[in-house]
Amino acid sequence: MTAPLIDPFARAITYLRVSVTDRCDFRCVYCMSENMTFLPKKDLLTLEELDRLCSTFIRLGVEKLRITGGEPLVRRGIMTFFQAMSRHLDTGALKELTLTTNGSQLVKYANDLYAAGVRRVNISLDTLDEQKFADVTRWGRLPQVLKGIDAAQNAGLRVKINAVALKGFNEQELPAITRWCAERDMDLTWIEVMPMGEDIGNMERIGQYWSLKDVRAEYENHYTVTDLAERTGGPARYVRLEETGQKIGFITPLSHNFCESCNRVRVTCTGEIYTCLGQEGKADLRAPLRANEEGAGVLEAAIRAAIGDKPRGHDFDYSRQDVGGKMSRHMSHTGG
Ligand code: SAM
Ligand code: SF4
Repeated sequence: MTAPLIDPFARAITYLRVSVTDRCDFRCVYCMSENMTFLPKKDLLTLEELDRLCSTFIRLGVEKLRITGGEPLVRRGIMTFFQAMSRHLDTGALKELTLTTNGSQLVKYANDLYAAGVRRVNISLDTLDEQKFADVTRWGRLPQVLKGIDAAQNAGLRVKINAVALKGFNEQELPAITRWCAERDMDLTWIEVMPMGEDIGNMERIGQYWSLKDVRAEYENHYTVTDLAERTGGPARYVRLEETGQKIGFITPLSHNFCESCNRVRVTCTGEIYTCLGQEGKADLRAPLRANEEGAGVLEAAIRAAIGDKPRGHDFDYSRQDVGGKMSRHMSHTGG
């Protein structure tokens, strides 16, 4: 029997998020600068390396795999990777294969994703206003994403909408977005904007930090809000709107700290493992992956060593950290 991945605080690591590219066809203001320099191809893990990496984690007890980016669906050949991962669903070792996407490529790929065993997708969408969508994503076009959402639902994928809460941007749209999700039977999760990257100035043009405490208060003005006990091992908390029966999620990495139940690690598209989204600590898995084509021993040892260093918790806190305390890496790097 292979020993499971348990960190120093007795947390079992069962959830892996893997970024498969740093590239994207959008340039969301809170995520990327307009002129991004992307990594040279040789630095990226190949699809074969991604397969070996994920398969090793699954052998060590990872049951849920989320593919992210950048925009995962712009990575060339990515469907081959999804198809390869579906073998772990077939054996039952992997319980869920899923992705986070901006939705732009779903018209093309929704059916293939379903065929590879994906059953749920998170689609990021902050506004239903075409002009505002173009403003916040810079390069994105709303109709294309809406068609992608249709394609996902028609393919049988369950859709969750992720919206970044931005004061002065989508504040007024909260009831409309909520109603739209209810009508289409989609879950909705609000994400508190995180101080990532050096380009925070980009955001100020569009909107500002909107505390999810205030988002919740806004719901309470319109609905009867009941807390739900559901936990996913991450920073999301859920409520039910009694009038519609809708479940609404809140991801609050900043104003709360739920690290005690953290079950996840992240790997970047270059093979760096981050065991905590809010800490700089990382370890390289690419060298062990490349050194170790014939067996999994070196890679497994590197993974175990990284998990052995997983910190107790993160340090995001607007009240305790000034601008200098923000994380210097972009979400597109660690994969959100
Ligand atoms: N491109 C895909 C997408 O947009 O869904 C996947 C990668 S994206 C980095 C993952 C998630 O991170 C998206 O929901 C995005 O809105 C969110 N995100 C990006 N930058 C953020 C920030 N600074 N604060 C909070 N959420 C952020
Ligand atoms: Fe691209 Fe997603 Fe970042 Fe927007 S949030 S720029 S869609 S990676």
